[in-house]
Amino acid sequence: MTEKVVYDLEDDRWMKNLMNHKPDEGRVVLTFDDGPGRHLAAILDILKEKAVPAVFFWNTRLLYDQRPWRRVIDEGHLIGSHSHKHVNLTSLNQQKQYDEIKTSIDRIESITGQRVRYFRPPFGQFNEDTVAVLKSLDLTPVMWEITSYDWENKAEPGKTVCNVIDHVKAGSIILLHELEQTVEVLPELIDRLREEGYDFTLI
Ligand SMILES: [Zn+2]
Repeated sequence: MTEKVVYDLEDDRWMKNLMNHKPDEGRVVLTFDDGPGRHLAAILDILKEKAVPAVFFWNTRLLYDQRPWRRVIDEGHLIGSHSHKHVNLTSLNQQKQYDEIKTSIDRIESITGQRVRYFRPPFGQFNEDTVAVLKSLDLTPVMWEITSYDWENKAEPGKTVCNVIDHVKAGSIILLHELEQTVEVLPELIDRLREEGYDFTLI
């Protein structure tokens, strides 16, 4: 007799996130990694002007008091963890991964007073120890579907827009970074996505 397979919603939620796609018709998600940095205020200004919500995955070793984190929350964005020091988690044992992730969420929560629910692994690298840690901390992993390669486009920021527009589809989670060259093309990127018929949402 075959054992009955129980449909596990928890696993499904994990799969959906690991597949890097948000099943939400006509909307896309902008995510900004590796802050909070010195370009954060400029990014927030653009997002505010364009009325676009976004998700920020922060390395908490950069989370100084003077970063405008309150604006991020007040202006309707989400803050997730991108670890404390941005090390490749797969090079750490499970306890060290736990410390790295727990330090990060504690830091964000102690400053903002809000629970952190989302985590993006540095370099997109994780293993089963990471999965165990995230489950124990009730964190949902968020990967991405569209790589903008904004970090490679310092000389030609316009390429970032092309990389996104050429591959985006409804529900895409788009990977961006808090970089100067990203700020430079962000208004155009938002406008182009709207022209293509997309609206913006959070995860
Ligand atoms: Zn990163």
